Amino acid sequence: LVTRMRNFGTTIFAEMSALAVQTGSINLGQGFPDTDGPAAMLDRATQAIAAGANQYPPGPGVLELRQAVSEHRAARYGLSYDPVGEILVTVGATEAVAASVLALCEPGDEVIAFEPFYDSYAASVALAQARLVPVTLRPSQGRFTFDPDELRAAVTPRTRAVLVNSPHNPTGTVFNRDELTVIAELCQERGLIAVTDEVYEHLTFDGVEHIPLATLPGMRERTVMISSAGKTFSVTGWKTGWVCAPPALVTAVQTVKQFLTFTASAPWQLAVAHGLRHELDWVSALAAGLQDKRDRLMEGLSAAGFEVLRPSGTYFVQTDIRPLGFTDGLELTRGLPALAGVVAIPTQVFYDRPERGRHYVRFAFCKKDEVIDEAVTRLKHLS
Ligand code: PMP
Ligand code: GLN
Repeated sequence: LVTRMRNFGTTIFAEMSALAVQTGSINLGQGFPDTDGPAAMLDRATQAIAAGANQYPPGPGVLELRQAVSEHRAARYGLSYDPVGEILVTVGATEAVAASVLALCEPGDEVIAFEPFYDSYAASVALAQARLVPVTLRPSQGRFTFDPDELRAAVTPRTRAVLVNSPHNPTGTVFNRDELTVIAELCQERGLIAVTDEVYEHLTFDGVEHIPLATLPGMRERTVMISSAGKTFSVTGWKTGWVCAPPALVTAVQTVKQFLTFTASAPWQLAVAHGLRHELDWVSALAAGLQDKRDRLMEGLSAAGFEVLRPSGTYFVQTDIRPLGFTDGLELTRGLPALAGVVAIPTQVFYDRPERGRHYVRFAFCKKDEVIDEAVTRLKHLS
């Protein structure tokens, strides 16, 4: 294995999901729902296969999906992207992030990311031989946010891009307009590209709305906007994502993408096009249901002795384990199957500087109520 990848090992999701299977534990670790996406959308995938949509789609993706993405961006956010030249379908948001970083960064360039960050960011930056510069999100008045001065201080002449994930995994923060304005102004002052990971764009709570960074003045032209179907439609296994950006940026990302995977699987693309066009009410109901599940899990985890931080989006709850007398989340989560028959994710693995997140553990609530209840019952034996 090349030196630059030696620190990465096996992803925490693979480790923890394997542990859940081995020990028969309830898996509140890796974020995937235990119920299916909209039935008509699933049927659409079956029909697509039966109708012969089984050969390579065009490199940029099935036109019908690119059109549906374009219509969705316009209707939901007032953003206009041409299905031909400004939209690229990818193998999930993961490939979109990797291809974007590989396309935009020279070796030695710096990429700013808010810490804790989704684990693929550091790996993508390492693959590009670029350097990830973390800016830490810290709890303030009940939500994780960043210090604008710290963000500004992170920019150097080598900074090429800022990776912005909102709604944010793993903290559940949905960046507000003030936070986005700080990022947008900095990008424009310092000539940076924003790569936005918006896979949880529909999963927000309490009336909080997701604002795409590309909707801020001057940002559409310098933003690579990424999303995917996995979270929105509860089909994480379909690995269907997309990039929206001005032609020069999409061409750059596509130049890399075509040699990573050439194109993405065909049947899902037709089904996701149906989803974006006809299943948004289903998605709203999903988000409303998740809000109830969030409250259910938060209440249970508080009763079990965790300090719980309220997420405004995603399907993850962040907990501080210190009130229970634990100090290290990695140690706790590795022992949790034996202690309680539950699997969770040690948030520290999403930090460039793990000590900053040592006492946090992430729990997923995209699970049936009875699964959440059983996990909580088990966790109550911890204290
Ligand atoms: N970004 C974030 C923040 C995520 O939580 C995930 C996990 N689904 C992804 C990207 C990956 O998305 P996909 O499965 O579409 O590659
Ligand atoms: N995005 C999901 C999570 O954060 C799972 C991602 C993965 O398994 N790679 O849990």
